[in-house]
Amino acid sequence: MKRAFVSIGECMVEMAPTSDGSYRLGFAGDTLNTAWYMRRGLGADWDVSYVTAVGEDEISRRMTDFIAAAGIRTDFVRRLPDKTVGLYLIQLNEGERSFAYWRADSAARRLAADPAALETALRSAGLVYFSGITLAILSEDDRATLLGAIARARHGGATVAFDPNLRPRLWPTREQMCDAVMAAAALSDIVLPSHDDEAVAFGDADPAATARRYAEAGAPVVVVKNGAGDMTSRAGGREDTHAPVRVDKVVDTTAAGDSFNAGFLAGHLSHGDLARAIRDGAGLAAKVVSHRGALVE
Ligand code: ADP
Repeated sequence: MKRAFVSIGECMVEMAPTSDGSYRLGFAGDTLNTAWYMRRGLGADWDVSYVTAVGEDEISRRMTDFIAAAGIRTDFVRRLPDKTVGLYLIQLNEGERSFAYWRADSAARRLAADPAALETALRSAGLVYFSGITLAILSEDDRATLLGAIARARHGGATVAFDPNLRPRLWPTREQMCDAVMAAAALSDIVLPSHDDEAVAFGDADPAATARRYAEAGAPVVVVKNGAGDMTSRAGGREDTHAPVRVDKVVDTTAAGDSFNAGFLAGHLSHGDLARAIRDGAGLAAKVVSHRGALVE
């Protein structure tokens, strides 16, 4: 049987401005972006699956077709008759990007509402991946269901990887965000935070402090991303710094962290060397920030 990488979260419709003033429709989302890059980075001996919920309408069908066309399995995508998918619009103002979201009632918010379906989705997983955004969109009960299912998958032998991907605006309070993220980190094997977000939410003085906090929560491997700055890893009580790959001209940093995670995790699965896997992640992220858009061929 093939091994499976299972990513859990929300994919949204993306409306991106074009040079003629119209908008181009696409599909993206942090955990979907990572699954997309994992499909490219992993060999044919790995299945890549996406766990989410969509509606039964035309745009939901187009989204599911888009995911499937990328080679990502959609067997565990729930289809809900009375819902549709979330949407975000990218706005450009003098070169600065800002985002407007319509996702408060998206189908993906119900992705963990059927515990049996979730259990089935995770049953054959070799590596389970989710993020702080996955947690943020769920009700408290569904979040507990998801973390329970992930803990059982880990107990059954799956490796669990988690990107805190902190989005304070998706949470009622900062405390709830921080508590949920630390609880998720405590049941993860690999935690992949970005220092700038962590510094704001947790007050970490530097990437080493971020790495230490997640290691103390119980994560055996922590890699702290840091934009154009040095990354910090912590594994087996050992702390190291790693330089990113130099980029001459940064074009668009969308999905830098998501692609880093995919490059890192694919390397971790294929050769298992931590420093080399970080180089793999940094190399892919450097390519992604050198091009426009989240999904760079
Ligand atoms: P996020 O997208 O989650 O905010 P970061 O901005 O920390 O994540 O970036 C993730 C990774 O992408 C970094 O660790 C680095 O490897 C790469 N990266 C991001 N920005 C740059 C940059 N300006 N130059 C080179 N690499 C970058």
